[in-house]
Parts: sequence; structure tokens; C-alpha cells
Amino acid sequence: MYIGCHMSIGKGFAKACEGAFKIGGETMQFFTRNPRGSKAKEIKEIDVKQYKEAIARNTFGPVVAHAPYILNLASPKDEMWELAQRIMIEDLERMGRLGVQYIALHPGSHVGKGVEYGIKRIASGLSKVLQESSSDTIILLETMAGSGTEVGSTFEEIKEIIDLVESDKELGVCFDTCHTFASGYDVDSDLDRVLKEFDEIIGLQKLKALHVNDSKNEKGSKKDRHANLGEGVMGVETFKKFVNHPKLQNLPLVLETPGGIDNYQREIALLREMREKKTLKTKRE
Ligand code: FE
Ligand code: FE
Ligand code: ZN
Repeated sequence: MYIGCHMSIGKGFAKACEGAFKIGGETMQFFTRNPRGSKAKEIKEIDVKQYKEAIARNTFGPVVAHAPYILNLASPKDEMWELAQRIMIEDLERMGRLGVQYIALHPGSHVGKGVEYGIKRIASGLSKVLQESSSDTIILLETMAGSGTEVGSTFEEIKEIIDLVESDKELGVCFDTCHTFASGYDVDSDLDRVLKEFDEIIGLQKLKALHVNDSKNEKGSKKDRHANLGEGVMGVETFKKFVNHPKLQNLPLVLETPGGIDNYQREIALLREMREKKTLKTKRE
């Protein structure tokens, strides 16, 4: 298991890696570009070199980039739908150059057209994206809370998207603990069963990354509000089960909790402490 957190790339990709390592990280996540804007900073050869050196020096596990929030591959509006595809193609290429393993993507919102419409629209958009791209970076569909008209808040919806995408390229899944809980899954009381269900519907081999966040809102609330570990309604015990679960040991685990870098340092230490030392090891032990 590789424990890390969401980092800013304001000072560059290499600095983000060094920063994550300094606070105990073995991996990280960052936005591929400004999460609300659409203009991307050009990645230069020197950025690629410095980033790759930093990753090697700090022996990082798989890194997760996150696509901007504004992308909506389920949008009924063609301009929005096509913009999302264009940005994904660009970011797959940009992240591929860096050697970033994954891009987590919110599948999209159907804005009133219905879940089935949304699923088909996303799958058709993703098919086009993958057709255009020769990047090795893998897109991970993120499990969503189901707020508003979000698609992808059940394992069945995610599976349907994956099945409808026409491409030989791999698609994976990023499991967000807060979102899955808010969607109504018993991750707090019966993680084994939830993972069994995931395995039966999607297949655990598709699970490539975890977002580890507590939730400010109740189970099934469909609200996406992250809380600090142990300060939300999911409880510390839930996260103990996540970090110690035998089926999750090869994955990068990324915190997206409030409070900035000092908080991340504290929560990375907390997660490491939660691990049952005798049986399981993190990379740093
Ligand atoms: Fe996300
Ligand atoms: Fe997330
Ligand atoms: Zn969230």
C-alpha cells in the first residue's frame, strides 16, 4: 500500500513530489490542470526530467492525476461534451509524458436526461478519447456520491460505462470512501461485503486507487462533503479496515481531506499507525 495525499502543482510536478515525500507520502495526487479552468500549463522537457528524477529518488508508488471538475462527458450539450473529450485527450498525453500511471475522472452529470442517457454519452465520449490517444496513462472512473444528476454512484453504473466503451485500452476505477458511503454503501459496517459486491459487479482487478476521506454527511445522503479522518460520520474504525484489508494492499491511497499540508502530514501518520504492524507493511517500514 502506498499512502499519500493531494498536492498542488503550483510550483511544478517535481516540487509536488518532494513535498509529498517530506510529509511521509509514498504517492500523491494532483490536478492535471486548474480544476475549474481549462487552460493547461505547457509541460517542458526539463519538467519531465525533474519529475521523473523526483519520483525515482523518493521511490513513489503509482501516482494519480485528477481531471478538472468542469469536464462533463455526460453533457447533452455538444460543446461541453466535446470540450471534455479534448481536454481528456490532451491530459492523457501530458500525463503520459510524465509517466503518471492514472487519471481519475468524475464520469459526468446527465443534467436531467436520465442515468441511461448519461451512461451511453459517457461511454461514447470515452471511446472517442481512447481512440485518439496513444498514452499509457489509464483513466480511472471515480465512484461518485450521487449528488444532483451525477452518474457513477453505483458499481452497476460504472460497470455499464466500462462495458459500453469501445476500446482495447484498459479503464480502471478509483474508489472514493466518502462518495461510496454517501451513495449508500456499507463501507463503515461491512467493507468485506462491499468489496465482494465490487468484485462481482466490476471485478477487483479494475480497482486501481483509493481516495480516503471521511464524510460530513450521513450514509446515503448523496452529498459529497469530505471530512478529516475520524471527524466525520464514518469513524476511525472504518479507515482501519481499509488500510488493513488484504484485497487493497497493492493500491495507492490518496487523502483528499480538508486542512492543507499540515493536516495531510498528520493523517498520513495516522493511517500508517492504523496498520497492523506485524502482518502488513507500508513501503517505508
Ligand atoms: Fe474526485
Ligand atoms: Fe475523490
Ligand atoms: Zn468528493
